[in-house]
Amino acid sequence: MANLNKRFEINEFSDAFLIFYSIWIYSYNNNFSTKKSYLDSQFKLNYGIGIEEYLINNPSLEEEMKNELEAKDLINSIFSLIHIQNSLDKKISNYLIENYKLEKTSTNLEKLSQHINKKLEKIVLTTRLVNKEKNKFSSIKTCNSLLGIAWINISEIISKNKLVKICTYIKCNMIFVSNRKSSAYCNAKCQTRAKSHRAYYGASKKYNEGKLEVNSNTPINDKNNVNRLPPEEFKIPEEYEPDFGFFDGEDNKLKILGS
Ligand SMILES: [Zn+2]
Repeated sequence: MANLNKRFEINEFSDAFLIFYSIWIYSYNNNFSTKKSYLDSQFKLNYGIGIEEYLINNPSLEEEMKNELEAKDLINSIFSLIHIQNSLDKKISNYLIENYKLEKTSTNLEKLSQHINKKLEKIVLTTRLVNKEKNKFSSIKTCNSLLGIAWINISEIISKNKLVKICTYIKCNMIFVSNRKSSAYCNAKCQTRAKSHRAYYGASKKYNEGKLEVNSNTPINDKNNVNRLPPEEFKIPEEYEPDFGFFDGEDNKLKILGS
């Protein structure tokens, strides 16, 4: 629900739609805790603090997310935009549909724009001059709702021909904005990690979401097939990568700690 007393500076929340999306995915009821912890670390990298901490510091955002219908509408519209822009890997798309129940609300930009316009019509913007320094005034635009700002963000993305993407590194899937059609990873770290991951799993069938949490307890599925051995637990990547394996086995660590 929009907070009538509070006003948010639009310039301070230019990433509101990305934040909503990340937090929505993070909070969604699922068991992929390895992915969750990676997403949280990526969030920290982008916004300086972890997701839980962000929510504590921005109670209005948490409050607005409780309006599930409105929040889901935003998430689905972002998902639709990524589809329309042809920047979504099919495997990741299916993964998001299956695990997060994401839906395409529109299949073309015309329809999506109409939908976004309906949201924009309801947004109340206020502009005021603020004296920030002596004789130096800034024109500050504010909105009473963070979800409202997220819709404004999306409209600007569309009007500036920017692309919304999902990082293709299997453990990340962080949302990001790019000007380039070819960019596939949210940052250089993911690019390196993806490379290491491919070096580890190769282009085999193991390289898919289902095997995301391969660990030492993985039994040999087919006992009659002696050639099929479980994957090696540790393998040094071909390229030096300081964080390689940092988040691997996070689940086991938690189990050992009894949490
Ligand atoms: Zn990434």
